Amino acid sequence: MSLLDKYDKVSLRHQRLLSFGRDPFNICMDRIVSATEAVINGRDVILVGTNNYLGLTFDPDCVAATADAVTREGTGTTGSRIANGTYASHRGLEQAIAGFLGRHAAMVFPTGYQANLGILAGLAGPEDTILLDADSHASIYDGCRLSGAKLVRFRHNSPEDLDKRLSRLSGGTGGTLVVVEGIYSMLGDQAPLGEFADVKRRHGVELLVDEAHSLGVFGDRGRGVVESAGVEEDVDYVVGTFSKSLGAVGGFGASDHPGFERLRYTSRPYMFTASSSPSTIATAMAALEKIQARPELRQQLWQNARTLYDGLKDLGFTICAETSAIIALKMPSEAAAVYMWNALMEAGVYVNLALPPGTPDGSSLLRCSLSAAHTPAQVQRICEIFGSCLEALKAWQATQSAAE
Ligand code: PMP
Repeated sequence: MSLLDKYDKVSLRHQRLLSFGRDPFNICMDRIVSATEAVINGRDVILVGTNNYLGLTFDPDCVAATADAVTREGTGTTGSRIANGTYASHRGLEQAIAGFLGRHAAMVFPTGYQANLGILAGLAGPEDTILLDADSHASIYDGCRLSGAKLVRFRHNSPEDLDKRLSRLSGGTGGTLVVVEGIYSMLGDQAPLGEFADVKRRHGVELLVDEAHSLGVFGDRGRGVVESAGVEEDVDYVVGTFSKSLGAVGGFGASDHPGFERLRYTSRPYMFTASSSPSTIATAMAALEKIQARPELRQQLWQNARTLYDGLKDLGFTICAETSAIIALKMPSEAAAVYMWNALMEAGVYVNLALPPGTPDGSSLLRCSLSAAHTPAQVQRICEIFGSCLEALKAWQATQSAAE
């Protein structure tokens, strides 16, 4: 028996998916045209699933800063942060992130995934307990496992369940950390941070919020849901990524805790990997300046999100959460989701297809993410295409039930 034989069932499911047309998990952008357009398989496609919330990937200042950095500092650092991989630009970005978030210190990681590994496994050890929301991102689960801490899952977005589980903890000697996300990536639903902060305060534990999908999107200054919910004081650690609103690659952790910098010589995912290239750091730095200098990008994003939300609702789709930059449509079955996803691609719209077990409640989703760079005409066109694909889906479903 080969080690890979255990994936036979997964492969069968993949084959079934392919019978609908395209491979939704192996899309290749032949040419990227702009923040919202690409050529895929020879077809012009509007991108509505890239998490490019502020549309900064082609911002001329960000592009110029990136090109300038590679010319001045080279293509890579060829070393880890604790060896030869810390440049003034890494330090500068860490200070800029800390300043932006109003925090004492920040640490930069090569990806958001690694930021969660590094911060969680750095903070918690086998003697500690982490309570995490059941719908947490894979990087949070993996960071928790790497930490070796005792793990307790609480019901998604339920401060009551968290409260109950904290009350049941036997008073060990270790610390206790609660982990939630500002906005959940699959459904786009928001954590009730005010209530979580109450629970955290009552139990005297620490709180970490992953703002991957909310940084630059929520809050008057773009500091995330922690800012819009008015709980910055109660949040001990913020984690985020550069790969969404900042249009770069990387991640960070930030905190006011006086001992936070100890993670620089205790967190293995921070210490034992090469640092981000100078160009990546420069992109994130330039984009962070844009977030602060151009609040109108955030307004445009919200305008686009509201228009698409209303349009899809009028068409009769079941939308999983309140309006946000993520609009997830719950489809009646996996087959309907896959059919519709293929129809959308055929008509020139790319969204994310999300299927169980990667989704909450085993639902099959079409996940849209809006960008400030979408034009009103594009949003209009996206709505129209959703409308015509829905008609095609209904006709297909009718043929399916007639055949049964
Ligand atoms: N946290 C959350 C909540 C995420 O959704 C993601 C990415 N989708 C990450 C962390 C990881 O970020 P990155 O892509 O930068 O590794």
